[in-house]
Amino acid sequence: MKVVLASGNPHKARELRAILPGWEIEPLVTDRDPPPERGSTFAENALGKARFGRKILAREGVWVVGEDSGLEVDALYGAPGILSARYAGDAATDEANLRKLLDQLRGQITGRQARYVCELVGIGRGGDEIRATGELRGRIAEAPSGSGGFGYDPVFVPEGEERTVAELGDAWKSVHSHRAHAARAFARALEARTPVE
Ligand code: IMP
Repeated sequence: MKVVLASGNPHKARELRAILPGWEIEPLVTDRDPPPERGSTFAENALGKARFGRKILAREGVWVVGEDSGLEVDALYGAPGILSARYAGDAATDEANLRKLLDQLRGQITGRQARYVCELVGIGRGGDEIRATGELRGRIAEAPSGSGGFGYDPVFVPEGEERTVAELGDAWKSVHSHRAHAARAFARALEARTPVE
């Protein structure tokens, strides 16, 4: 199965390829800037990315997929949420976002429960849509550790685990992550529809 991923985040493409090894996951190649994220939910933003990619590949039979994901923390009333990538500012690095998160939670003993969310929206040539959601529940550690994954992984400890996602590593992530759950649900839905359109 071949899909085009409308995302500029190389971590997402890398992880999706590990989750769906039989799939060809191509990046969207365009010199046009993606539209700003204006949605108020992960699903709306994933749809916006998919629509942008679909418009560029208007004539191609391949499915175009938008992905939006992020972290919701109980003590922060669901923040950083859809602002996860730019929590510490528009051009913030993963490190700056993670530092801000730990600053916001300093001294907080309860409420460190959190969840990662991933929404995938695929649009076929005829405009048909497939949507899939995945989540991973856990809590935010007091200090970063580990070098796998990306983003908030060095401080995210999944339920039932003692180590952070960054310590558990990419192989663990490709089975258990929010992206893995969403991608497998997406794949099941898409494979159930073949032949495409
Ligand atoms: P998006 O590109 O607007 O969807 O933003 C995704 C942001 O959410 C990333 O920049 C990370 O900050 C966070 N995020 C999403 N998925 C993960 C993950 O698997 N690990 C760590 N952080 C993630």
